[in-house]
Amino acid sequence: MTIDVVTIFPAMVEGALVAGVLGRAIERGTLSVSVRDLRDFTTDRHRVVDDVPYGGGPGMVLKPDPIFCALDAIEAERGTPLTVVLTSPQGRRFTQAEARRLSGMERLVILCGRYEGFDDRVRERVTDELSIGDFVLTGGELPALVVLDAVARLVPGVVGDEQSVVEDSFSRGLLDFPQYTRPAEIRCRGVSGERVMAVPEVLLSGNHAAIRRWRKREAVSRTLARRPDLLVDAVLDEEERAILKELTHGRD
Ligand code: SAH
Repeated sequence: MTIDVVTIFPAMVEGALVAGVLGRAIERGTLSVSVRDLRDFTTDRHRVVDDVPYGGGPGMVLKPDPIFCALDAIEAERGTPLTVVLTSPQGRRFTQAEARRLSGMERLVILCGRYEGFDDRVRERVTDELSIGDFVLTGGELPALVVLDAVARLVPGVVGDEQSVVEDSFSRGLLDFPQYTRPAEIRCRGVSGERVMAVPEVLLSGNHAAIRRWRKREAVSRTLARRPDLLVDAVLDEEERAILKELTHGRD
C-alpha cells in the first residue's frame, strides 16, 4: 500500500512516522509513505498556498491549484485510481469500519487542511471526506496521522500478531477484554486507600477454555456498560449472545 500525505507542515507528519510499529513497517517497506510539501506544487516565486476568501470574512483559504498539481504529480508517480481523503470537520465520521475499508485500497492520499480549510472545488478530486470527531483542530496533520495509523495497522504484515488486530475493540462491535501482566499481586494506593490488587484467578489457572469464556463475558459486559450503542450492530457468536441475554435479563 502507498500512502501520500499532502501538507504545508511536512515535519509535523514525518516526525510521527519514525517510531513504533509504523516506523518499522515503513523501514521494512511493508508500507510506502511519502509526505509531500504543498508548497512544492506552487508555481509562483513566493510559493503561496493560501488566499483571502471570496465574499470576504476572516481567515485564509487553501488555493485549489497547488492541491490539483500535487494530485496530478502523485497520480503520475503512483498510478491510478487514487483514493483521496480530505480531512475536514464536515466529513463523514472516521470509524474502525472506515479504517478497514481504506486498508484495502492500493493508493491512499490524505490532504491536510489549514486556516479556514480548502477551496470547495477541491472536493471534485476527493473520494472520501472524513472527520475524526466533532471538534475543530488548527490543521489536518493530526487527523491525517490518526487516519494513517488506524488504516496502516490493518494492512497485513504491519502489526506482527494478526490475531491482536482481530480481537481489538470495535473489530466485531465489542470492546476488548481487560488485560493484565506481571506481577500477579500489587500494592495499590487508590481512592479507597491502600490495598493489594490481584489479577483475576482464572487468568492464572492455565484453563484455556475457562479463560476464553471469561474474556468473552468481560468483553460483552464492558461493552454493555460503556458503549451499549455498539451492541446494535455487533456481530456476536452464539456464546456471546447467550452472555448478553443473561446480563440483560430482567432489563428492558
Ligand atoms: N472552517 C473549517 C475548519 C477548518 S479547520 C470548517 O468549519 O469546516 C482547518 C483544517 O483542520 C481543516 O481543513 C481540516 O483539514 C482540519 N480539521 C480540523 N478539525 C478536523 C476534524 N475534526 N477532523 C478532520 N480534520 C479536521
